[in-house]
Amino acid sequence: MAETVGIVGSGLIGRSWAMLFAGAGYKVRLFDILPEQVQSALAEIEKQLYELEKSKLLRGSRSAKEQVALISGTSSLKECVSGALLVQECTPEVLAIKLKALKDLDVVVEAPTIISSSTSTHMPSVLSKDMKNKERFIVSHPVNPPYYVRMVEIVPAPYTESWVPQKVRSIMQELGQVPVSLKKEVPGFSLNRIQYVILNEVWRQVEEGVLDVADVDKVMSEGLGPRYAFLGALETAHLNAEGMQNYCERYAPTIYSVSQSMGPIPHMQNETLKTVHKQLCDSIPLDKLQERRQWRDTCLTRLSVLKQEM
Ligand code: NAD
Repeated sequence: MAETVGIVGSGLIGRSWAMLFAGAGYKVRLFDILPEQVQSALAEIEKQLYELEKSKLLRGSRSAKEQVALISGTSSLKECVSGALLVQECTPEVLAIKLKALKDLDVVVEAPTIISSSTSTHMPSVLSKDMKNKERFIVSHPVNPPYYVRMVEIVPAPYTESWVPQKVRSIMQELGQVPVSLKKEVPGFSLNRIQYVILNEVWRQVEEGVLDVADVDKVMSEGLGPRYAFLGALETAHLNAEGMQNYCERYAPTIYSVSQSMGPIPHMQNETLKTVHKQLCDSIPLDKLQERRQWRDTCLTRLSVLKQEM
């Protein structure tokens, strides 16, 4: 019999998780504090799954009809989590809201159900320290849009039992996602720490008058980005010389010396913020953001198809 997962919070990310789990054959129960959100999520998911099937982008071996039939909604948190293998918490990224949602979950969840949070920023120990089920708590942080960008960061708290991250990793693989297992929690996890290093440096380059916004963004989109869509930074270095040992013999002193010239961490405020914001709005006005997001998602969809073929 198909295993069940519960999704708590039926917004953007809750809907994506529901589609991914159904794609792998799980029964999905959706809950939201606003019952109308569950209804709109069910309608939207059905529409999206049929559209994906039509454009041959549907994941998993089941038809859209079969996947839709696996997903149901409930107005009872207890029913949502009852007998579930895993509950994926997808409430807004506001600490007080998450703590309240997790407190409610803690009352109704029973062993061995895993409690997994989609949080992008809160440390697992901060979210779960007062929970009685905390040894089965973990963060599974997706990247938006999770249907096309497959990486998921799995982050345990110091007291999470060792079988939990292992089990979540295998579930993510079953879903067709690409899990990355952090051995311990760190602020920002891995993805955002790397993203912030990049943001800090592009900010400094604009602030110091080295490049304008359009050109510094091209360094990523037309320079580093295409390569990094297929290879990580370390493998890139390994291939750029005769192996990593040779790369470091050649380039480590230069990397160290350039890195020392990078200056303090920017606060991302004041005059530079005005400059960056104006230049971005000149090329993408605020009323065109939605259009641009759709274009980005189309690009990511095509890239995801290419990555599956490679
Ligand atoms: P969202 O605002 O779209 O959806 C949140 C949903 O949670 C809403 O439907 C809301 O009604 C519901 N909710 C609020 N309190 C609740 C409660 N106590 N119990 C049940 N439901 C409740 O948010 P989102 O963008 O889907 O983000 C959800 C989580 O996923 C956040 O932690 C976020 O950081 C993380 N995340 C988001 C993205 C992204 O790009 N949006 C990417 C990765 C991770």
